[in-house]
Amino acid sequence: MGNLTTQYERFAELVKEMADVSHAQALLSWDQEVCMPPQGAASRARAMGTLAGIQHDHQTAAELVDLVTALGQADLQGDTAVNVRQVQREQKRALSLPKSLVVELTQTESLSHEAWVEARRNDDFAAFQPWLEKIVELKCQVAEAAGYTGSIYNALFDEYEPHACVEDVAPVLADLRQRLVPLVAGIVDSGRGTDDLFDQPFDIGPQETFGRRVMTDMGFDLEAGRLDVAVHPFCSGTSPKDVRLTTRYSAGLMQTSLFGIIHETGHGLYEQGLPDAEGMPVGSAISLGIHESQSRMWENMVGRSHEFWQHYLPVLADHFPQQLAGVDVDRIYAAVNQVESSLIRVEADEVTYNLHILLRFELEKAMIEGDLRVKDLPGAWNERMESYIGIRPGNDADGVLQDIHWPVGLIGYFATYTLGNLYAAQLYRKASVDLGDLSGQIASGDLSGLLGWLRTNVHTVGKRRTATELVHDITGEPLNVDYLMQYLEGKFKPLYGLS
Ligand code: ZN
Repeated sequence: MGNLTTQYERFAELVKEMADVSHAQALLSWDQEVCMPPQGAASRARAMGTLAGIQHDHQTAAELVDLVTALGQADLQGDTAVNVRQVQREQKRALSLPKSLVVELTQTESLSHEAWVEARRNDDFAAFQPWLEKIVELKCQVAEAAGYTGSIYNALFDEYEPHACVEDVAPVLADLRQRLVPLVAGIVDSGRGTDDLFDQPFDIGPQETFGRRVMTDMGFDLEAGRLDVAVHPFCSGTSPKDVRLTTRYSAGLMQTSLFGIIHETGHGLYEQGLPDAEGMPVGSAISLGIHESQSRMWENMVGRSHEFWQHYLPVLADHFPQQLAGVDVDRIYAAVNQVESSLIRVEADEVTYNLHILLRFELEKAMIEGDLRVKDLPGAWNERMESYIGIRPGNDADGVLQDIHWPVGLIGYFATYTLGNLYAAQLYRKASVDLGDLSGQIASGDLSGLLGWLRTNVHTVGKRRTATELVHDITGEPLNVDYLMQYLEGKFKPLYGLS
């Protein structure tokens, strides 16, 4: 089949074709969320299904399998080695799954989604239980077919956090939980009241102007990206030169849209900073956890910092003189950092959020490993909510039925949110040390130092390293819970008068 160079060239040609199909898929999904009229749904679903089939055929075609086998045995170096290894990983997984299983899973996820919407509306876990049992059973079949080392959960975890191993991650997350529970209890017991600063209407027009100002100050390039409105905020990219973000505006939910924009811009900056590899895998993000570290760092460590509001309160007050009359930096800083025990994950603050995630991670791991039956799930959920966050759901709709993830087969996903927070805290600490006066830069409205640091250390690395390697390369140590705990305690203990 010719020499190595010719083989690699043909391999790259085929991989770029797959990237072009992905490009079309990403744009169709974006359009579905942002522009598509409701009646377009049926034909869009068909088009998406066809493209998914084409993608699978390309990925598992005999020519590409032969090329990957040959190149996989060659002594490749640098980016060519990264590209071959990555395609090989994904191809191996695609080849390992029988088509009948893939079809059954796709159909079950779609039906299960419908059943979940209904069950949640009626607060009826029993109606959803058989669907979740089926999803868990099929996911275990997927894991067995794909293969794994150690826990069966690793086969599912790997889809979202490549190379992560639950034997390493679970003890780190358990340590975090043991340290977070008393912090949350201390905050709740402090008895500090809530601030109603944001419980008033803020006009949407100025909200949008301010949001776009922060977004461009952060360094998002609007010649290489867009911000639109969609029901669910997200970031999707087809290349570093075309990154699509969405948010939603509501006069009564000013904080939600502002921090939504900052969060998605954090994702978008990562996408714009990835190496432009013309669709080759080396130019893609490392993992969902690393992606989330970028959004959480900007949203929480920057956007919810005192120094951020030192600069931006006067700017925001220009847009909303009436609502912010007499408000000082200390007050707005406290108002954007309120902690409450709440039932709903997506409304949770940055302290309790991780406990919402950890209980989901523990429960899904137990279901996949066979240690928890689906019928016992609501009880286990409610018990953990009470012991971790100090609040017990009055019904399953506000408890175990609240998230879309399990109904649509996203098992192994939740932990990436908390990994993102852990990575963010560890990286932010190192950025502060390297940059010297990061707080001072932010207080003066200069966000370019942090972006430059992230470009050099994280974004331009592309997929050349795993998440574990990246964190070690940058900080010189493995993932360490201390950084997130020091950050949270350093911020929230003074806010709540705890010692
Ligand atoms: Zn995110």
